[in-house]
Amino acid sequence: MAEASFKRMISTLLRQTRPQSFRNGKPPRYPQRQLSTAANAAARPLTPDIPQWQAHTVEPSPTPGNDHQTVTKQHRLDELRNEKEPRQFSSFLIDNFSREHNYLRISITERCNLRCLYCMPEEGIQLSPSSHLLTSPEIVYLSELFVNQGVNKIRLTGGEPTVRKDIVDLMHQIGKLRNNGLKELCITTNGISLHRKLDSMVESGLTGVNLSLDTLDPYQFQIMTRRNGHEAVMKSINRILEMNKLGAGIKLKINCVVMRGLNEREIVPFVELGRDQDLEVRFIEYMPFDGNKWSEKKMLSFGEMLALIRQKYPHVEKVQDHKNDTSKTYQVPGFAGRIGFITSMTHNFCGTCNRLRITSDGNLKVCLFGNAEVSLRDILRESNDGKPLDTEAMEAIRQLEMDRRQQVTGSTGTLGVSEKEARLLDVIGMAVKRKEEKHAGIGDLENMKNRPMILIGG
Ligand code: SAM
Ligand code: SF4
Repeated sequence: MAEASFKRMISTLLRQTRPQSFRNGKPPRYPQRQLSTAANAAARPLTPDIPQWQAHTVEPSPTPGNDHQTVTKQHRLDELRNEKEPRQFSSFLIDNFSREHNYLRISITERCNLRCLYCMPEEGIQLSPSSHLLTSPEIVYLSELFVNQGVNKIRLTGGEPTVRKDIVDLMHQIGKLRNNGLKELCITTNGISLHRKLDSMVESGLTGVNLSLDTLDPYQFQIMTRRNGHEAVMKSINRILEMNKLGAGIKLKINCVVMRGLNEREIVPFVELGRDQDLEVRFIEYMPFDGNKWSEKKMLSFGEMLALIRQKYPHVEKVQDHKNDTSKTYQVPGFAGRIGFITSMTHNFCGTCNRLRITSDGNLKVCLFGNAEVSLRDILRESNDGKPLDTEAMEAIRQLEMDRRQQVTGSTGTLGVSEKEARLLDVIGMAVKRKEEKHAGIGDLENMKNRPMILIGG
């Protein structure tokens, strides 16, 4: 659907749900603005400032003589998903409950350009000194290590990943790991500046975007995020839809945290976004983290959300979830899109959990809700006097490792692991084996010490 009609649809949905007082009056504390971008957008040409997306080049697979090829969406995704030969899954990534952890989420920044009520205190959070954070060569090194052990999906998150200056280059380097078995490279973003970088990201191998949007109403957006930017987020969504029409094949999911008294009246309009659009809106139960003033009263459970949807769409039906899905998926018959519920508070999905997380300061976290962490950064930096590894230092280490391997095995091949890799894998393996069968329940989670969500990465 074209941008203009998508915006028109949102505008109509908003008119239907905006309370009378809100519809005609000024919202409290915020300046009056155009209610929706739809009217303006309809008159504008289709994102004239954004160049048309075209079929793009991907790194060739390492076949001799196979130089750069231009491939279209189907080829690109086929290439990304095509497993040349099934790999043996590393025992380092299998826990005591036989869960194979093939999905790695990496937080690449602690910073964010929004201040969502449910995630961050208004004044922001205490940021780590930059020397504590992983450098790009360190992130790439760890990504490669995990992919070589069997991880086939990496998600970059944060904070807001798009505020990291070198995100496109980072993605490009991680994207090359498809030659090692990476199949999906995704991002979770608030969408504020995504539209500016999306084209280059897709060229670098981006396959999926989880975009956080809790309201379709620009005023409510200001209330929930304490910042402006609704229009920019819509621009990012439109750009994805536009690129998908041209064959980019970006898997789009919209994440919506539902808070009682704030945005539950928008659940149905969000569902209706999927009437004609092939997108998935996922409603997330509000979760407690340090400093987010969680209370059970503010949380809308999965059951309540579904009941609300059933009032308007009684025939909404369950559809088959994928093996490691964290959400329960439903569909309104006849709608192109689907809806999902992330029910971390009321129904855990620990049994099929396949995720590991690396925080921006380089700690491995085996469970979003667990406070156990081990530092991979410190092991990485051991040979550099604990200092951050830049490209040069990383290159020197790789060279040293290769020389050492050559001395031991007499070959320059990539078989076997270096001392550093072996140390890292030991620590990773032990942390994975310590992973609990399931996380604490709602009562315990509320009182548990954990990082703020922004420092974990969702
Ligand atoms: N800034 C990016 C974004 O907002 O998408 C990525 C980081 S954000 C921490 C990742 C996800 O966590 C977002 O989808 C956000 O809605 C979700 N999230 C943050 N705090 C939450 C909370 N208290 N309960 C449920 N979901 C939360
Ligand atoms: Fe920022 Fe994402 Fe947290 Fe919102 S949810 S404050 S966008 S990190």
